[in-house]
Amino acid sequence: MERLYKGVLKFQESYFKKEEDFFRRLSKRQDPDVLFMTCSDSRVDPQLVTQSGPGDLFILRNIGNIIPPFDALKDKNSTAAAIEYAVKVLKVSDIIVCGHSNCGAKKALLGDEKELEGMPHLRDWLRIAHPVKEHVVGVFGNEATEVIQHYTEKENVLEQLENIETYPFADEAIKAGDLFLHGWYFDIGTGCMSAYVPSSNRFELIK
Ligand code: ZN
Repeated sequence: MERLYKGVLKFQESYFKKEEDFFRRLSKRQDPDVLFMTCSDSRVDPQLVTQSGPGDLFILRNIGNIIPPFDALKDKNSTAAAIEYAVKVLKVSDIIVCGHSNCGAKKALLGDEKELEGMPHLRDWLRIAHPVKEHVVGVFGNEATEVIQHYTEKENVLEQLENIETYPFADEAIKAGDLFLHGWYFDIGTGCMSAYVPSSNRFELIK
């Protein structure tokens, strides 16, 4: 914690001091164009990898970057609440769902559910992505574990984009040309970001 306390003071004394006017303007309202949705993994930093600043991205993170289909969770669903707010109130023009390499949630998803004993919330949450597992194992089941893991990380991004389309207001905005969906994949070890290109059905390097 000591490092964080020092960081807070350093931020206030250096970055904030230089940008005081900017923060004063920012304090009145936010107007981000993009909802950036990614995993809670500590190694994925949406602002850093897109070189964005405060006010640029409305960020939604959860374990495994999973978006429950519109009617999947009858109970409290913070992910759905964030999508509602981003699309209906902030009126973002773009939603990026960003997966990443070496995702622990995908490892757990592909592993034996018994290993999640004592973690009922995590078990139930990952069950939302079971269709991703079924799909990838069905197609790549004979490949090496790392290959299956890699395809699961990417396929998950695409299936979550489809889940966004199950939200009626999002579907409406997409059809009206007011909202665009993007699937991204971040490779932690190389720093490379790729984006899904529907015409080639591949994730292609952003360059
Ligand atoms: Zn992850």
